[in-house]
Amino acid sequence: MRHFAIVGSGPAGFYTAEALNKAYGERARIDILDRYPVPYGLIRFGVAPDHQSLKAVSKRYDKVAEEPGVDFIGNVTVGRDVSVDELLELYDAVILAIGAPHDRKLGIPGEDLPGVIGSAEFVGWYNGHPDFADLGPPLDGTHAAVIGNGNVALDCARILSKTHHEFEGSDIVGHALEALDGSAIKTVTILGRRGPHQIAMTPKELGELGHLEESSPVVEAADFPPVEADDALDPGHRKSITILREFAATPPDATKPRRLVFDFFARPVAIQGDGKTERIIVERTMLDQNGAARGTGETYEVPASLVISAIGYSTPQIDGVPYDERGGKFRNEGGIIGNRLYAVGWARRGPTGTIGTNRPDGYEVAEQVASAMPAGSGDDRAGAEGLKALLAERGVLPTDYDDWRKIEETEIGRARPGSPREKLVRVEDWLSALGG
Ligand SMILES: Cc1cc2nc3c(=O)[nH]c(=O)nc-3n(C[C@H](O)[C@H](O)[C@H](O)COP(=O)(O)OP(=O)(O)OC[C@H]3O[C@@H](n4cnc5c(N)ncnc54)[C@H](O)[C@@H]3O)c2cc1C
Repeated sequence: MRHFAIVGSGPAGFYTAEALNKAYGERARIDILDRYPVPYGLIRFGVAPDHQSLKAVSKRYDKVAEEPGVDFIGNVTVGRDVSVDELLELYDAVILAIGAPHDRKLGIPGEDLPGVIGSAEFVGWYNGHPDFADLGPPLDGTHAAVIGNGNVALDCARILSKTHHEFEGSDIVGHALEALDGSAIKTVTILGRRGPHQIAMTPKELGELGHLEESSPVVEAADFPPVEADDALDPGHRKSITILREFAATPPDATKPRRLVFDFFARPVAIQGDGKTERIIVERTMLDQNGAARGTGETYEVPASLVISAIGYSTPQIDGVPYDERGGKFRNEGGIIGNRLYAVGWARRGPTGTIGTNRPDGYEVAEQVASAMPAGSGDDRAGAEGLKALLAERGVLPTDYDDWRKIEETEIGRARPGSPREKLVRVEDWLSALGG
């Protein structure tokens, strides 16, 4: 019998489990470990609450978890409760699928001022991530800024711009909905170092901004290259640019009180304020021959009592696991980190791609495992039994599949569309829902 440990229960972890289960069937036990007692990673804590249809992918993961050869072991933080070396003693292979939950730093003066937060924190707050239940982003000022030109920046800006009514059918957490109801924010500025052609925003997410109840997008026509230049873009990207051009050609709707301003060629150089953020100092940029942003020396101020940086993520380091500082992920060759140690998903590739990108990624790594470790040969390691014994010695209480299901039956568990969760979510709340 082979024993495999997959660390992380986001999309990458589940696709890898699915692939290993298909490859080995009854000849392997696959344990999916997670630091939380409920699974799904960013499907639960990242994907926007008003994009419910995307979250339905979790049903496929449920099927994997229900397979007889697959187990979920929650409430175990690898690197703290158990080391990777210890897991390698207990399992034939260890696959790290821990994602990239840390916000990349801006690296500019003032980024530690109160009111400056990372997108992982903000997104976690409105999605009920226990680490950010008490974030309390300042929503009492009239101006907010989001730094970054990807879909996560768009998610943050859209959530700040929606009305209570527009969250109907979402599973936004009650405490965030209540705070957003009282928000005074009228202008959200999205800052991008480069121009419209360099955005990493998809048409669906951009298009939504044209239909908000109270907010109107504002884009400068002068920021675009000549329209013929769009021909060289791939079709999806061209569609995004066409939507932005439409925004630029349409005057903001005077009946809507809020604005969502796209500020291109704008590089934040400092954040300033008296004890908290009040403004961003921005340098105007232009593109050099290589398409990189070059400062022009011209600076201006963008008022912002809330600043959200959405400039990318990195994987946390785990003792003994080689790390690629530049890429912010585990050092690996096609998913192989070292002997019997693998990485998948964002921990392997860095924070790019959609949920679906993690599927071929997980399948590829599972194939590598299967070719290195044929079923029916090798040591019979201790697997989950050994892990549970080790955790018991350390006073760590792992949770299982039944606990996850029990938690989801409670009001603080997984929300249903149209029924925002009412309470702040903390890990203790989840564990107390189990009666422990
Ligand atoms: C804000 C946001 C919105 C997004 N929206 C979309 C979208 O609309 N559509 C789309 O296709 N993609 C979207 N994505 C991308 C998608 O979420 C990712 O591609 C995907 O989640 C990456 O999967 P993963 O399994 O590598 O990481 P994750 O989903 O982050 O899963 C990692 C798991 O590892 C666990 N873990 C972490 N550290 C440890 C540890 N030390 N020990 C044990 N467990 C640990 C975590 O709890 C988590 O469950 C979005 C991403 C973000 C950040």
